[in-house]
Amino acid sequence: MRVVVVGGGIGGLALGSGLRRAGVEVSVFERDTDVRATGGYHITLDGPAQEALSGLVAPEIVERMLASGSALRLRDPDAFWDRRGRVLGYGPELRDDPSLDIDRITLRALLAEAVGDDLHLGKVATGVGYAGDGAPVVWFDDGTSVTGDLVVGADGAHSLVARFLAGGPTNAPAGIVGFSGRTSVNDLSAGERARLGTRSGLVVGPHGAALYLGFLDPVGNAVLDRPELRSPVTTGPTFIWGAMFPDSAVTGALRKLRGSALRAALVARFRELGWRPEVLEVIEAADAESVAAFRFNAASSRAGELAPWPAGRITALGDAVHATPPTAGMGAGAAIRDAADLVERLGSVPLPPAVEGFEAAMRERGAAVLTAAMGPVRWILFTDTVAGAALTVAAAPVLAAAARWRGRR
Ligand SMILES: Cc1cc2nc3c(=O)[nH]c(=O)nc-3n(C[C@H](O)[C@H](O)[C@H](O)COP(=O)(O)OP(=O)(O)OC[C@H]3O[C@@H](n4cnc5c(N)ncnc54)[C@H](O)[C@@H]3O)c2cc1C
Repeated sequence: MRVVVVGGGIGGLALGSGLRRAGVEVSVFERDTDVRATGGYHITLDGPAQEALSGLVAPEIVERMLASGSALRLRDPDAFWDRRGRVLGYGPELRDDPSLDIDRITLRALLAEAVGDDLHLGKVATGVGYAGDGAPVVWFDDGTSVTGDLVVGADGAHSLVARFLAGGPTNAPAGIVGFSGRTSVNDLSAGERARLGTRSGLVVGPHGAALYLGFLDPVGNAVLDRPELRSPVTTGPTFIWGAMFPDSAVTGALRKLRGSALRAALVARFRELGWRPEVLEVIEAADAESVAAFRFNAASSRAGELAPWPAGRITALGDAVHATPPTAGMGAGAAIRDAADLVERLGSVPLPPAVEGFEAAMRERGAAVLTAAMGPVRWILFTDTVAGAALTVAAAPVLAAAARWRGRR
């Protein structure tokens, strides 16, 4: 059997590696010319995603991932703050949480290594369909084409392959625009370092303004303490933050800015919405080059609406099918689990039923991940309603007082 994979992001590379290990002939075609010259911050891999990965890549690659990953169990519980910097509550203890955060570039580079010379870079797919003999075929912008027994679209949220199968887009804008950046903890004032601690957190204010802070330290909090195996992009305690606003003319104007101009405009926008300066220091201290905008796209959270096509010899996985906003940190993990499931089925079930079973399981998995990710999105959008804004403002002092009282006990 020969499998053609379109897209060498996280899901496509995980699939390529798994098929190669299983002895299946596979070729992964990716439009980027360098897997490291790509955007992205950190990816969270929970226990099931790590378990899936350990079946897809060789043990030495798993070890290098663990040596480059930041362990959640070494972090303090997540915090919820208000826009004045008051603590409203804490999340659960993380000491038994097996999840890790890893730089997207590091994860992608390690997966690319696992795929080896079955990865073909600089190949832009421009069309997909069936040849006269019924074999699936992919066409590229350089005039070449390739056929296989199975074509898998792992080409992300704007997937060409899934659009061919579904007859249209498989997701839509979720109503929120995100702006991310990277801030070294060493660039924060002593006061702010003490206030934030070694924890991730979320601030949600009225009018749909929210700020996520993700703490990672792949060196100090390494999952596996093997410095000789380490290859993270992040080399010290760092906050990867995501500012979120409802999609509007204001965010449209922000999206046109870059670097320090965007960073300053984000701070100004939060200040207009009543946020205290100390809460915004993490944005002000960010590496200007790291600040970038991205739009949240989401597929349906109803399983029956995902992969709305009959099973055949062309399929898709990951964001191509269940594009997931980053609010639950589960999109990449779901793509990896899709890949592991497809590899397993292709090894034990003949082709048409293998794809049918794979797509049925992926619908359930995708819907579960989307349900988790859309909770925070809906909450943030609710604060942009008159009732939601009033409730957010009224609840903050009550929750802050309750948190102080619990702290005193
Ligand atoms: C640049 C980038 C940065 C990201 N940063 C983060 C992040 O910081 N945190 C986070 O949680 N998630 C991030 N994500 C999303 C996360 O990586 C995905 O949600 C998740 O990995 C799902 O994996 P996937 O393989 O389905 O899609 P992706 O990882 O998006 O991979 C899709 C791949 O297909 C390729 N492709 C698309 N169209 C074609 C074509 N026509 N021909 C050939 N190749 C094509 C793309 O170049 C891409 O490499 C990012 C995604 C991208 C593309």
